[in-house]
Amino acid sequence: MQIAPALHKLAWRKNESVATALTNGQWKRGLRLLSTTEEVNQYIELWSLLQEVQLGEQPDDISWRFSANGTYSSSSAYRIQFVAAFPDHDWQRLWKTKAENKCKFFGWLILQNKLWTADRILKNGGQANAICTLCRSTPESAVHMMAGCSYSIQVWTSSASMGIILQQLPQTSYRSLKRWWTAMIGDTGTQASQQREQIVTYIAWNIWKERCRRVFDNKTMNPSQLVLLIKQDIQNWRTANDFWEE
Ligand SMILES: [Zn+2]
Repeated sequence: MQIAPALHKLAWRKNESVATALTNGQWKRGLRLLSTTEEVNQYIELWSLLQEVQLGEQPDDISWRFSANGTYSSSSAYRIQFVAAFPDHDWQRLWKTKAENKCKFFGWLILQNKLWTADRILKNGGQANAICTLCRSTPESAVHMMAGCSYSIQVWTSSASMGIILQQLPQTSYRSLKRWWTAMIGDTGTQASQQREQIVTYIAWNIWKERCRRVFDNKTMNPSQLVLLIKQDIQNWRTANDFWEE
């Protein structure tokens, strides 16, 4: 199974045991600096696949939550190929979004629940104000900030003129955020969906930026001010990249 051929070429410890490589993400240290988009894409894909892999008790025995008894067998190895073929999110598409890299990287982080929102900071023993600074009424989490917060809902609703229709979050688990994100973009493969993906990414990024503005700079913008800023961001990107003339 070739998940990441370009990465395999880059790795310098090819014969390390699976356990050593997976413990604390050791395998990432075996990679030299990533330089091409292909390598970065494969890194992201491999990283997201490895999130699903769990080590068993026996040395060099892999178990994953998709197999019934958790032990390695050729049939479960066969099955993981389908997992590889159908990752839980279209990461390739996310990475191709017509947006600045920092915004795409943000999208990638939040969909993996890797963003340092208050709930995560507190869970990891850090100090943070537990309450969302946008609505000042509900505990802050990635899911709340994006899809449940009254402030963010106003921002999404005011973005209807850009063709974005706010979707209901199926459940309040961070895993459902990926499905929600996909539902916001709708049918793929068209210029309209590329445009929606760009807009969703910039809205999400700006909601996070507004949150950080409040937490770190003690400054606030109301939803309509933020929507103006979002429109400006998107316009700037399109002007700089001649997006619709490609
Ligand atoms: Zn809130």
